[in-house]
Amino acid sequence: MRILVVEDSPTIRMAIEQMITQIGHTALLVSSGEEALQLTGESEFDMVLMDIEMPGLDGFETTTLMREALEHWIPIIFISGHEADDQVLAGIKAGGDDYMIKPFSPIFLEAKIISMKRISEMNQRLDALNNHLADLSEKDELTQLSNRRAFKEKAKQVLHLSQRHRKPVSVLMLDVDHFKAYNDFYGHMEGDICLKGVAEALRETVHRSSDIVARYGGEEFVVLLTDTDVYQARLVALKILENLQSKNIPHEKSLTSDRVTISIGVASTSVSDQYDLNRLTDLADQQLYYAKESGRNQVHAQKDKSQKTILVASTNSDNRSALSNAMQSYGNIVTADSYQERSLLAKEIQPDLSIYDGTCDSIGEMEALKDLQLSTLLVEDKYGHLLGRVEAIKSKSAAQIEGLLVSYLR
Ligand SMILES: [Mg+2]
Repeated sequence: MRILVVEDSPTIRMAIEQMITQIGHTALLVSSGEEALQLTGESEFDMVLMDIEMPGLDGFETTTLMREALEHWIPIIFISGHEADDQVLAGIKAGGDDYMIKPFSPIFLEAKIISMKRISEMNQRLDALNNHLADLSEKDELTQLSNRRAFKEKAKQVLHLSQRHRKPVSVLMLDVDHFKAYNDFYGHMEGDICLKGVAEALRETVHRSSDIVARYGGEEFVVLLTDTDVYQARLVALKILENLQSKNIPHEKSLTSDRVTISIGVASTSVSDQYDLNRLTDLADQQLYYAKESGRNQVHAQKDKSQKTILVASTNSDNRSALSNAMQSYGNIVTADSYQERSLLAKEIQPDLSIYDGTCDSIGEMEALKDLQLSTLLVEDKYGHLLGRVEAIKSKSAAQIEGLLVSYLR
């Protein structure tokens, strides 16, 4: 044991140190209450021997302050030259655990240490058990994510704080696609492993300590993102899809893909302005339903009330519809299939975002340039200023392209 000795008399300090060493423990010596408190944050010790009469802070005051500073309980034993009943009582009331009258013998000290050590160990076991119980009641056993109950409790606090600071909060509801078919075909053991994989993809994507990731029940998960509007939340959701995809978990019986996929619904206070957990999860659930209805393995988010206008232009009809699909969650889509139409519409409706590919860039370009241009998207704001380019679109997934395009909307 490491025993902190707080004693202003150098003679007594040395005598006690000798005894402690003699019975096989380590002594840490300080000569005042102030020094003892300073050490409390910095150094580890398992027990304190505390003199009562000291200049500056006395033993009672030091003990009261030390108890506040200590993260867990350790025994504090008073040592005093006086044998007065009221002193003993005052010491115990100040947070001490026992009382010894100076001078005392090494054997007497050893006996005290043994008895205090016993109580200390019992306390540690109790702490460990309590922590374990707290974990059990808050964590989902299979995935080690928060469980539904803990999610609700934490989420309510976060919403309350966010409302006060007027910060947006978003909720993602996630559901594994065709999970019943997975369980039926691969068995429940494999089903559990699959859910762990999904949980891992979630953990890899969402790692800010203020965010909450939880298993909502069965194959349903929920994520709460602090200080995140609907656009940012959508990007996070797309990233989750991507991370799960890279896990490559086979799903032979899925009607959506040959891999395990999920659908995600997104709701945000930045759209509905309602800092109510039930309302938010309901709205996210609704979006999840739309994501399932539209073919699964995708993200559906609440539409922004302010409804942005997005102009999508390409002479290639496949490009046009792919881009329209990618952007339809973010606003009203207007399409153009020629360069002339695009510039006309851009002037007329002043879209918040104008996206076009190389086929619409200009007329009369050399044929050789066309292929190159086809693989680049150009993005303009409502004034016709170029915001940026998305290059090499053929090498990017639809979700990646969507993520890049949406970043220009904000
Ligand atoms: Mg003294």
